[in-house]
Amino acid sequence: MKKLLLVGGGHAHLHVIKKLKDQPIADVDVTVLSPSKFQYFSGRFGAYAEGLFDESDIRINLEALAKTSGIHWVQGAITSVDPKQKMVLTSNGDVLTFDAISFNIGSLTASTDLPGVVEYAYRIKPNYHFVDAINECRQADKVVIVGGGAAAIEISLSLQTWRKKNHVTTPVTLISPDRFLPDKSHKVSDKIEKIVVQKDINYIKNEEVTSVKHHKIMTSLQNEIYFNKLLWLTGPKAPGLFRTSKLPVDDQGYLKVEDTLQVKQYPFMFGAGGCVSLENDSNINEGPVSAVRQGPVLFKNLKGFFETGEGELYKRQKNGLSMMSLGDKEGLLNYKEHLITGRLAWHLKNWVDTHYIREYKD
Ligand SMILES: Cc1cc2nc3c(=O)[nH]c(=O)nc-3n(C[C@H](O)[C@H](O)[C@H](O)COP(=O)(O)OP(=O)(O)OC[C@H]3O[C@@H](n4cnc5c(N)ncnc54)[C@H](O)[C@@H]3O)c2cc1C
Repeated sequence: MKKLLLVGGGHAHLHVIKKLKDQPIADVDVTVLSPSKFQYFSGRFGAYAEGLFDESDIRINLEALAKTSGIHWVQGAITSVDPKQKMVLTSNGDVLTFDAISFNIGSLTASTDLPGVVEYAYRIKPNYHFVDAINECRQADKVVIVGGGAAAIEISLSLQTWRKKNHVTTPVTLISPDRFLPDKSHKVSDKIEKIVVQKDINYIKNEEVTSVKHHKIMTSLQNEIYFNKLLWLTGPKAPGLFRTSKLPVDDQGYLKVEDTLQVKQYPFMFGAGGCVSLENDSNINEGPVSAVRQGPVLFKNLKGFFETGEGELYKRQKNGLSMMSLGDKEGLLNYKEHLITGRLAWHLKNWVDTHYIREYKD
């Protein structure tokens, strides 16, 4: 029997695991390795923070899904990979060998190397930390969220809604180093800023955090901001694994893959989602939905690798539709310069997210 090792329970791997139930790869033993038996679905993070769903509604049981597909489940985090020996080491001290390997481990959080961040701020990645981090922040008197991207804005607005409903009177403070959603147009940023104002978020923009101390943030404009709980939502950073294992990475440390989702130098090595960078692309990756969209190509190419030698190319998509929650069961849909906000946008996002998560529920 040959061995396929799936590292991480990200969205592309969920698709692969599900497909293997009805279309197993002939004479291949499959194992999935991930640090939590649950994969948390970030599409529902805003709705969870707002109090609309329970923990069980926002996660997929990876271990159960693997078992249904006849796949071995190993709980643990990968710590290194040796492409020559074709083996990995895990946080539990396990050694796992493989004939082919696929990575879908997501990203980590940016700027955590600033003084005090690791000691005093909650991070939510890997994503099984999300629920505990949010629950810690719900009732705190002074909650500060750092970041200006979709995650920081969505969680600030959603937490603010929960706090108002539950009579916690102090507003959430949001500190952004730039304008809001700096990767979008100024029109979208301005709209988000208006919403942040309307929803009474205490916001500070164009100001960087320089260090964090016990209950105190220092900023680039020499301000001191006090907090009881601090949530660090500053965007993605590459996991250190690929660089320390001396695999081919881009200049930020993301694993370089070709359009077949294979590493050029090691064709038995695949990767998808937030931990990879597509070769010949100046962008780090395509953003959140890439892991979901890459799932079907990854499945075909893993199967092709063992069975027929055939595969498919992943077609990149720029300017896709993006959706976010804005609290109070309101949402935002953005496609290029088109923007829709309000209840209808929330219902559409909720419909898409519900449809997605149901695919994988027991
Ligand atoms: C607050 C917030 C809200 C978001 N909202 C949305 C949204 O509405 N829609 C959207 O499309 N995107 C959203 N995103 C972005 C989204 O979370 C990521 O872009 C997306 O989850 C990346 O998917 P992935 O499959 O690559 O990785 P992930 O979903 O991060 O999955 C990675 C998996 O690998 C596992 N893992 C991690 N480290 C290791 C290791 N060392 N060894 C083994 N396994 C490991 C993890 O436990 C997890 O199972 C949001 C992000 C945040 C922070």
